[in-house]
Amino acid sequence: MIRFTKSSVTELEEKYVLDALKNGSLSGDGKYTSKVYEQFKERFGIDRMLLTTSGTTALEMASILIDLQEGDEVIVPSFTFSSTVNAFLLRGAKPIFCDIRKDTMNIDETLIESLITPRTKAIYCVDYAGIPCDLDRINEIANKHGVFVIEDAAQAVGSKYKGKYCGTLTEFGCFSFHETKNYVMGEGGGIVINNEKYMERAEIIREKGTNRRNVLRGLVDKYTWHDIGSSFLPSDVLAAILAAQMERYDEIMNKRLNVWNTYHTILEDCEKSGKLIRQFVPDYAEHNGHMYNIILPSEEIRAKLIAALKEKEIISYICYVPLHSAPMGLHLGCDPKDCPVTEDYGKRVLRLPLYADMTAEQAEFVAQAVCDILENM
Ligand SMILES: *Cc1c(COP(=O)(O)O)cnc(C)c1O
Repeated sequence: MIRFTKSSVTELEEKYVLDALKNGSLSGDGKYTSKVYEQFKERFGIDRMLLTTSGTTALEMASILIDLQEGDEVIVPSFTFSSTVNAFLLRGAKPIFCDIRKDTMNIDETLIESLITPRTKAIYCVDYAGIPCDLDRINEIANKHGVFVIEDAAQAVGSKYKGKYCGTLTEFGCFSFHETKNYVMGEGGGIVINNEKYMERAEIIREKGTNRRNVLRGLVDKYTWHDIGSSFLPSDVLAAILAAQMERYDEIMNKRLNVWNTYHTILEDCEKSGKLIRQFVPDYAEHNGHMYNIILPSEEIRAKLIAALKEKEIISYICYVPLHSAPMGLHLGCDPKDCPVTEDYGKRVLRLPLYADMTAEQAEFVAQAVCDILENM
């Protein structure tokens, strides 16, 4: 059977986890958390990142840091994971769903301005499939209207927009290290704080609203309650897994890109004959091989393809059920007609299996199966 996703774990991850256990510091901010920060600095030039318990809580921290209030509006794509929206719903802000571009399936930046009102406080954009959204254009609109941009870069660790790393180009970048993402720690995430002025408050919010970090640094001898916050820091045992993954950064990246490229090459003819549309990558982007999506001509064909692949023991998966027309979206008063491209693509996009340890033969087998099934339908 070809699984949909699987994390790549070696003896190095085992070694670091055992070492973390033996260190006696099982809670957060130990040796391996520091190691991860050094790795992100060296690799991506990121000076300020805080590890969190998930990509979800990284987004929640960003929502606290920009002081969202009841009644504020946030512009966000509907074609995303529930966490992107829950992060600010929890603060009382209201989602204003924006439709997506047909090529990248990222937020359609040409529609953003028409959704801005005096209540707009932020734009939450998503780098779907590890392909960056048009960050320059989005930042330009945000600057013009004085609103924040939060980048949900959960899928885009290592991807680049115009040569610069995703997560570093807006007020806050949010990464996920969930087991289904490129670089994993089981459950975990990170918030990149690109503007130094938020760093002190971010550390306090992450530590249950206290200045405990300053005790660890030896700056004060007792810590106290300063702000709202929660327990957003992950165990150092989990950080040890991520430290090992980051040491294997190039290996994991290259393996994923190989699978991605195999799909892209074999499916070319299938695209030419109009059976599907392949994953699109704009000129401004260098991607991290996070996902390979195909767009089918109809929902019916997609359903048949999923079933036929399953018969060959290949697990494929639909992407998102659009949020604006999901039960919670309707409960919030959204109209299913609000985002027509999202509605349409939600029914026709299919994700093929992709993980680092997939062999070339497996990737070829999957791509060939897709071609054959569509050809004979
Ligand atoms: C995975 C993901 C998240 C959530 O990350 P977790 O670490 O699972 O909490 C948020 N947004 C997007 C776009 C994701 O793909």
